[in-house]
Amino acid sequence: MQSYSAISLLRHALGGHRRWPPAWRSPVPKRHYDVVIVGAGGHGLATAYYLANRYGIRDVAVLEKGWLGGGNSGRNTQVCRSNYFYPESAAFYEHSLQLFESLSADLNFNIMFSPRGNLELSHGLEELEINRRWANAMTLNGIDSELLDREDIRRMVPILDLDCRFPIVGGFVQHRAGIARHDAVAWAYARAASASGVDIVQGCEVTGFESDDGRIRAVHTNQGSIGGDRFALCVAGNSSALAAQAGLQLPIESIALQAMVTEPIKPVLHTVIGSAVIHCYVSQSDRGEIVIGGGADPFHSYAQRGVLPTTRDNAAAVRELIPSFGRLRVMRQWAGVCDIAPDSSPVVGRTAIENLYVSTGWGTGGFKAIPAGGDTLAWTIAHAEPHPLLRPFSLDRFETGQLVDEGAAAGVAH
Ligand SMILES: Cc1cc2nc3c(=O)[nH]c(=O)nc-3n(C[C@H](O)[C@H](O)[C@H](O)COP(=O)(O)OP(=O)(O)OC[C@H]3O[C@@H](n4cnc5c(N)ncnc54)[C@H](O)[C@@H]3O)c2cc1C
Repeated sequence: MQSYSAISLLRHALGGHRRWPPAWRSPVPKRHYDVVIVGAGGHGLATAYYLANRYGIRDVAVLEKGWLGGGNSGRNTQVCRSNYFYPESAAFYEHSLQLFESLSADLNFNIMFSPRGNLELSHGLEELEINRRWANAMTLNGIDSELLDREDIRRMVPILDLDCRFPIVGGFVQHRAGIARHDAVAWAYARAASASGVDIVQGCEVTGFESDDGRIRAVHTNQGSIGGDRFALCVAGNSSALAAQAGLQLPIESIALQAMVTEPIKPVLHTVIGSAVIHCYVSQSDRGEIVIGGGADPFHSYAQRGVLPTTRDNAAAVRELIPSFGRLRVMRQWAGVCDIAPDSSPVVGRTAIENLYVSTGWGTGGFKAIPAGGDTLAWTIAHAEPHPLLRPFSLDRFETGQLVDEGAAAGVAH
């Protein structure tokens, strides 16, 4: 793997940047692999990387119907945080945030991780009480959080309208949270996985499964049949439809979530802001664009575009919080199809089909989970038992009733 460094940048600059090797190989798929992963989003790629680099399983293929990182992993609003309420979620997402903190160095790829803080606003005394409970739970879980009063928030984000329609009375911040460049995370894992021998096959759609004796033997694709010993579905908004083809029913709903960016402006917003009441979140990218997210579309859909009323509501919500942003022009709007479980928590690990694993239910918050999701699923595949951090997120919780109801922290208001 070509090392990315100041020296290599200088050397290639002298050559007019014409000799950079491709970041990953484009192999013709073999007919059989030890592990076949479907979906080259962040989760599929990270799982492949950790399988090859931490757990010694290098005979791995990642099959992607489009281009790698073209799903939700390249469509999200980049927020990374571990401010969850329940200990199970806190432990998992904190593992992920810690992996994010050293990911650029570990993968020799600048993922532009920027721990600029994540501020959750309280728009009334009742919400302040709920947020105080949330922040205290984080402290008990060993995760940094700081309660803020109105004056603290005014100092931190002077452009906020504290006297908006639902006046802001306080909030809490996780200072170690922040953003990372979303597609760089997918590219970084792809490059390192490919260098370790993982075959990443783009333009390869899985269209069916061949099974026998309670096991999956092969997947049917537009590039022929590909056999494997173990299979993992990491296909986000396509999870329930694809799993059904393997004979597995998943409690997952698919809903479009959209985002938009404005024209770039000088730095004015130095933290990520979330408001559950007005229901939007906003940050400023390193390029200066204001990145806006909000509620999901109000119906099920597989369309990666979203509907106009939601776009309008999201823009109106941000304008309510920061009126000056009402003068900015929106440059782009897009959507991804999210995979949402009834308790808004992920569903990861083994299934009733012996050699089939799933990584789904990441919903509107699975970007921040990519490093931990990949690491723990790879461990689970390698050891054929659930990683300790994944036990609470297994599929059988919908039979036992041991749900991890993280609706609020997951940012899912439905
Ligand atoms: C607008 C928006 C904003 C978001 N904001 C945030 C945020 O700020 N922070 C956060 O943590 N999370 C956020 N998320 C959620 C996050 O993006 C996802 O949870 C995460 O990217 C899921 O990653 P993945 O690898 O599971 O799925 P994806 O990145 O979607 O990858 C799945 C891949 O599977 C492929 N695939 C599907 N079917 C097949 C098939 N049959 N054969 C082969 N390949 C197939 C797809 O083409 C796709 O590339 C947001 C999502 C959206 C849509």
